[in-house]
Amino acid sequence: MYSQLWVEEQYKEFLGLRYKVDKVLFSGKSEFQTVDVVETVGHGRMLLNDGYVMVTERDEFIYHDMIAHVPLFVHPNPLKVLIIGGGDGGTAREVLRHSKVESVTMVEIDKMVTDACIEFIPKTAACLSDPRVTLKFEDGVSFVKKTAEKYDVILVDSTDPIGPATPLFNEDFYRDVHAILADDGIVVSQGESTFYEAEMQTKLMQIKNGLFDISMLYQFTNSTYPGGLWAFTYASKGLHPIRDFKADRVVESGLDFEYYNAKMHSSAFSLPTFVEKRLAHLIKE
Ligand code: SAM
Repeated sequence: MYSQLWVEEQYKEFLGLRYKVDKVLFSGKSEFQTVDVVETVGHGRMLLNDGYVMVTERDEFIYHDMIAHVPLFVHPNPLKVLIIGGGDGGTAREVLRHSKVESVTMVEIDKMVTDACIEFIPKTAACLSDPRVTLKFEDGVSFVKKTAEKYDVILVDSTDPIGPATPLFNEDFYRDVHAILADDGIVVSQGESTFYEAEMQTKLMQIKNGLFDISMLYQFTNSTYPGGLWAFTYASKGLHPIRDFKADRVVESGLDFEYYNAKMHSSAFSLPTFVEKRLAHLIKE
């Protein structure tokens, strides 16, 4: 007998993506959002926040490779890394593979997300017990405002601009991020759907263009994010993602990847014409 249980992510008012579910592993409601972990038939374990797919075991490597390795292979000395959000642990896992990284501070607003992933999605969350990781369960917006630390790389691994993540897409937040970024620091942020969230993506690029010396967009394709084509925004106080990228460092690292590689690194910044037309005036190289 096949399971008749399906989970449907409703995206905007016009799109739904359905996944067949074998088993519901966790369902909770925190003060911030609903948190569900389900075992799907086709994509392994899946985390949903407020009904939106965050991570699936089958394709999480794409997002996590690209948010982490692009900046970490550009920065020559990424000692201190800050992750805002990222409660499933996948981004921290990839960051920790870089031997130069001395500390990873992960600021996740919702402890329920991380607890559920530690218990049910160890593939992404098991790394969170690494001694280089400091977990802080608090709002990333207030953390960046008050911290006295400076970071070499900041990764904004947030949900969509709904609920607690809304201010993570505002200029005030990025002013604070700019202030705590080291002189040659890099900030990479979840940059939304190129196809369905053009307005929000453009707004993020406007903010980064106004604050940073370098602001660019790079893309990846992920089967479980609506529209398939998704993006990260890249900004830096001085390091260019292609000119300052030394492909030899990828080989020398001895690391093995499922999605990322040196060619992918540079080609991800080549934008389709409809995106280039929309963003050309905001790309600062
Ligand atoms: N890869 C995912 C995606 O884009 O679908 C995002 C992964 S991660 C689960 C996103 C996390 O950001 C969530 O766990 C959420 O609780 C967290 N988050 C949202 N707003 C936040 C805030 N203001 N401060 C810190 N974390 C926040």
